[in-house]
Amino acid sequence: MPAQAQQKARAILKTVFGYDSFRKGQEELIAGIMDGRDAIGVMPTGAGKSICYQVPAAAMDGITLVVSPLISLMKDQVDALNQAGIPTTFINSTLTAQQLNTRFREIADGNFKLVYVAPERLESERFTRFLGELNIPFVAVDEAHCVSQWGHDFRPSYMSISRVLNLIRPRPVIAAFTATATDKVKEDIVRHLRLDDPVRVTTGYARENLSFSVMKGVDKKAYLADYVRSRPGECGIVYASTRREVEECCSYLLKLGIRAGRYHAGLAEEERARNQELFLYDELKVMVATNAFGMGIDKSNVRYVIHYNITKNVESYYQEAGRAGRDGEPGECILLYAPQDVMTQKFLIEQGESDEERKTIEYGNLHGMVEYCHTTECLQRYIVRYFGDPEGQACGRCSCCTDDREVADVTLDAQKVFSCVARMKQRFGITMTAKVLRGANDAKVRQFGFERLSTYGAMSSRKEKDIVNLINVLVADGYMKLTDSQYPVLTLTAEAKTVLEGKEQVFQRVAPAARSVARSVDAG
Ligand code: ADP
Repeated sequence: MPAQAQQKARAILKTVFGYDSFRKGQEELIAGIMDGRDAIGVMPTGAGKSICYQVPAAAMDGITLVVSPLISLMKDQVDALNQAGIPTTFINSTLTAQQLNTRFREIADGNFKLVYVAPERLESERFTRFLGELNIPFVAVDEAHCVSQWGHDFRPSYMSISRVLNLIRPRPVIAAFTATATDKVKEDIVRHLRLDDPVRVTTGYARENLSFSVMKGVDKKAYLADYVRSRPGECGIVYASTRREVEECCSYLLKLGIRAGRYHAGLAEEERARNQELFLYDELKVMVATNAFGMGIDKSNVRYVIHYNITKNVESYYQEAGRAGRDGEPGECILLYAPQDVMTQKFLIEQGESDEERKTIEYGNLHGMVEYCHTTECLQRYIVRYFGDPEGQACGRCSCCTDDREVADVTLDAQKVFSCVARMKQRFGITMTAKVLRGANDAKVRQFGFERLSTYGAMSSRKEKDIVNLINVLVADGYMKLTDSQYPVLTLTAEAKTVLEGKEQVFQRVAPAARSVARSVDAG
């Protein structure tokens, strides 16, 4: 950016926000915007996206429009900007008709530099006409992934943004921001918002201070209690997928004498606001919540985020888990995995209001998350790769990187699985395949004549649960794929065929059952 603009941007950063230097990616985006270019910024939660539009907004003449779906965040940001001396206001559904009129008048009078607006407002004709009369040199679209059907949080109201932007003359500079976007989603953002040769900044997705873990087969309640008690004085969030589970976990922690609070959409607005406030000020140590909690909450000292259940996709998981360690200090992100929770998520998709095409995407996204739970590669790298960066390094901190269980050669078992899948014509799912391998006396198995397959009962000495787990790991490791559908079907990849031909071996980590027995004997 020209030296003068750069100086101006840095001065604003210092005087308005009190920061000495820009963080990675911020200056490039700000320079582009102040130079009149469109921009797309993909930066993880906590990286500092807001500054990227707030600094240019403060520097420009006229009004900056910020489209944001998060009403709770809106108020916090508006308050903070006003305190910092940048007159800012918002327009959303919480205003009465009378307040709205006053607000419109004040905006038209040029009283504000920034106006936050909820996307739904853009569907109001009155509002769009009003926008046409204003001087708006710059529009920032926050949570821009909401514009994409491929994203995890598609919002139809985002589709009207570009139509409304067309009404503003001259055409404003448009900048889009999101924390999580795969390449497909990024392209959707550029296309739907009609960004014109935008400056693109994607900062690394990796969060160096976070350690990820997946815990399988644990007694969740006992684990939760032990964990929370082992971190006295520290703040954490426990996410559960249903209100009922939030209630249960919260009362359980309270009974143990832990200062826990609850948050879900079924509570009265006052209680939610109060609990959120208490948590922000460390009066509550643990917040037990559904995913209704956290959007836009900037609490820097959350030391751990425990997911009591699997989330519906990797995007949501990373966003929620990423609320740990926003201050840059170490944070732990733990997911308690149980196969039933995958069924719950499938049920939610099935019962959901999405059309069939969208549901297929949702099933596919859920698979991504199930794979995360079963992968043996670095968890941080899995996530980074999911978002389209193949270059990630193993973090050395996650439960996979620190897994010291022995690596065993499971080639023979893998071959049994693959040949069974092949003999079942690659038309069935995990459970059915496990039943055949187990040799289950099952009506459906007989219905298809699978008791006559040579692989029927090939793993009769194993529990069905263990076979299911083995298959899941083989899927996560890329030997098989599951189709994107409500009843996903196992298919073999080229790697599985190489294994079947005996050209490659398969290794998995196995529980050190023998070792631990030996150790306890030693100790005794
Ligand atoms: P995001 O929207 O990317 O999740 P925010 O914009 O809320 O992140 O910023 C996260 C935190 O980082 C905020 O507390 C913000 O004030 C702080 N921050 C942003 N930019 C800087 C900077 N250049 N220097 C220091 N702190 C910053």
